[in-house]
Amino acid sequence: MIEKVENSLPTGTALLQDPLLNKGTAFSAEERETLGLKGLLPPKIFTMEEQVARVLENYRQKKTDLERYIHLASLQDRNETLFYRVLMDNLDEMMPIVYTPVVGQACQQFGHIFRRPRGLYISYKERGNIAEILKNWPRKDVRVIVVTDGERILGLGDQGAGGMGIPVGKLSLYTACAGISPAQCLPVMLDVGTENEGYLGDPLYLGIRQHRVRGQEFDDFVAEFMNAAKEIWPDVLIQFEDFANSNAFRLLENWRDKICSFNDDMQGTAAVSLAGLFSALRVTKKSLGEQKILFLGAGEAGIGIADLIVSAMVDEGDTLEEARAKCWFVDSKGLVVKSRDNLVEHKLRFAHDYPFEPDFLSAVKSLKPTAIIGVSTIPKTFNQEVIQTMAELNERPIIFALSNPTSKSECSAEEAYTWSDGRAIFASGSPFPPCVFKGQTYVPGQGNNAYVFPGIGLGAVACKAKTVTDRMFSQAARALADQVLESDLEMGRMYPALSRIREVSAYIGAAVAEVAFNDGVAGIEKPANVLEFVRSQQWAPEYRNYVK
Ligand code: NAD
Repeated sequence: MIEKVENSLPTGTALLQDPLLNKGTAFSAEERETLGLKGLLPPKIFTMEEQVARVLENYRQKKTDLERYIHLASLQDRNETLFYRVLMDNLDEMMPIVYTPVVGQACQQFGHIFRRPRGLYISYKERGNIAEILKNWPRKDVRVIVVTDGERILGLGDQGAGGMGIPVGKLSLYTACAGISPAQCLPVMLDVGTENEGYLGDPLYLGIRQHRVRGQEFDDFVAEFMNAAKEIWPDVLIQFEDFANSNAFRLLENWRDKICSFNDDMQGTAAVSLAGLFSALRVTKKSLGEQKILFLGAGEAGIGIADLIVSAMVDEGDTLEEARAKCWFVDSKGLVVKSRDNLVEHKLRFAHDYPFEPDFLSAVKSLKPTAIIGVSTIPKTFNQEVIQTMAELNERPIIFALSNPTSKSECSAEEAYTWSDGRAIFASGSPFPPCVFKGQTYVPGQGNNAYVFPGIGLGAVACKAKTVTDRMFSQAARALADQVLESDLEMGRMYPALSRIREVSAYIGAAVAEVAFNDGVAGIEKPANVLEFVRSQQWAPEYRNYVK
């Protein structure tokens, strides 16, 4: 008999073509008999382990990373359960393929490697009809949307409709890292055009061929989407992804109190960086309030990190003014101070009354920071003199070089350890291999956003949070730092091993849900054991028996 829940189960080819339900060669004899599959599959029945072996054999024969990306995307389109089994069991190897950096190449080649659509494409030409389009999505219980307009994809600039690769990749990580069911995830591309002349002239480009819609028309279009999504899926979490700076700050401010939403480039980055800082403080045995932090780069990432550090300092007893006075910025024109003209809005709150310094080194010498954080996209800016000065000023200087990709990192792990005589507490945005200095092996930690955003999503979705508050991010950062083992810290790693990510995400989810319950923004009653409740919400890539 077919399980009651499966009464609406498709049969035959329709079942094989539904990636959420398809099991491929793993359908049992009974299922093949009952579900009209006989003859549609080769006779041998395989276990999931055998299927995984076949996937890996094929995958590892591919010659380029882009081919590996295409291989995995095709698997995801055929059989999501198997895709997630493979991805979760090989996360270290495959995360750089399904997400950054290889997903960037996939976005650039999007129109050329396109096989099957995934997610919803909503073009500006459809304005006025967005609710209808959303209703075309076949899954009813959408809980996480990642939405982009493709304007600032990774460090690659405007990718137009090709930017869809990013929401797709990011949602794969929500599932692989935190266990949010793929049936609840929806990638969305708001196609408002592109300024990329290469795509506008490319016959295979998939988006609308026009320059970007700007200003009030853009805001109205986003608003129509946000309101329609909330109307149709009231408990949905919407993550803004890779919007240009000129829109990202405003969109977040406009929406974060109205709809459960956040911006990973700002807030996720901030939480993962704050977690690195909390881990570093476990090593220095100092408090957050005792830090003076100097940023190189005052863009989305830098300001987002500083805002969250300030919020965590305030949690620990500082006033807002006291906390802000501990965060400083150097941008492309020098130290951000009050006397500078024409500072953009988001830098003003960190423009202190202090003499101007023209460059980073002079700012380090003058301010004597305990930590420097590079988010400038300019490689080699943490040079020998900067790091040596930090090592003179601090017993254990905190040096985070977060710019991506590796080629843009402010310094390498090896440089940080060598120039500080092995005393730097280092973290980076892109991975660096372990390095040996004076006989000790250091394993530098990568401040990858994937440590945080899936767990935040899991927590928010599990408790049906109405908003995603700053305190959720700072508590997520604390939970992540708490999951770093002493053995990690001893080898210089400020983040846990990726192999523990599902468990770590459950702890982060529980921390986020706790905040929601305590601050009255949860949509459900508080369960007796929040961690166990969050764990019980995690989807696992296992085949279900359709026939009992
Ligand atoms: P952004 O473009 O918003 O900001 C970059 C900032 O650096 C701008 O304010 C720019 O004016 C400034 N800058 C440029 N040249 C400079 C110079 N010579 N000296 C000082 N400042 C200079 O970009 P963003 O989103 O803030 O990202 C910055 C970097 O951080 C990127 O490389 C990105 O990959 C990285 N990042 C890392 C993580 C992570 O590690 N988890 C997450 C997000 C972003």
